[in-house]
Amino acid sequence: FVMLLGSILHQSTFFVSAAKINQLPPASIPEVCFVGRSNAGKSSALNILCNQKRLAFSSKTPGRTRLINMFGVPNPEEPEEILGFLVDLPGYGFASVARDEKEEWADVLGAYLRERKSLTGIVLLIDIRRGVTTLDRRLVDWIAPTGIPVLALLTKADKFPYGQRIRAVAEVTKELAKLGTVEAIPFSSTQRIGLEETTEHIVNWLQPQDSHLTT
Ligand code: GDP
Repeated sequence: FVMLLGSILHQSTFFVSAAKINQLPPASIPEVCFVGRSNAGKSSALNILCNQKRLAFSSKTPGRTRLINMFGVPNPEEPEEILGFLVDLPGYGFASVARDEKEEWADVLGAYLRERKSLTGIVLLIDIRRGVTTLDRRLVDWIAPTGIPVLALLTKADKFPYGQRIRAVAEVTKELAKLGTVEAIPFSSTQRIGLEETTEHIVNWLQPQDSHLTT
């Protein structure tokens, strides 16, 4: 069953890039966004979840064009039809980016999270060694009023032994309590930790009617 779920995301393909919210396609099908500090491991996570080497690009280069990248997940029964979108929101928190540019990006990010009607789930990436930072809290303040469910991936979990991972999960869950529906899990792209659980969440969010039927 999980293999089947995974294979849906594996068929994802690049759909469109947008610099502004008003350049996005109409909000007519479910979408799940990926958001987190730059270097948190977002592109690695997207690539491993989609089983592709270069679907999402690392946000390592400061000052590169800030684009929202959308990937289409095809309907397995109707491959011409897109079931939903995975949305890669560029990382925040570059030390070297000018203040104005940071604020401009924060506006886009905030507007997307608050206003995007088709957003059914948020994957928040947090480096397990850093925990929840001030910038993450700012993001959480935008997300909380929307009530959209959040899955927090504690990335690079391979850097921590098991006991420390569990402690990190407890700490982050507490810090994100304001979000209401939030779940935090250890995740590692290199060690493939948390892949199945993450895939399951995403696929459920892309097919809200199905998850409704099965609950
Ligand atoms: P992004 O800026 O959030 O897209 O982050 P990247 O996916 O480019 O990853 C940032 C850095 O963290 C890179 O050097 C990756 O090799 C490393 N990294 C990403 N995921 C993992 C992981 O699961 N484990 C470890 N140990 N390193 C990782």
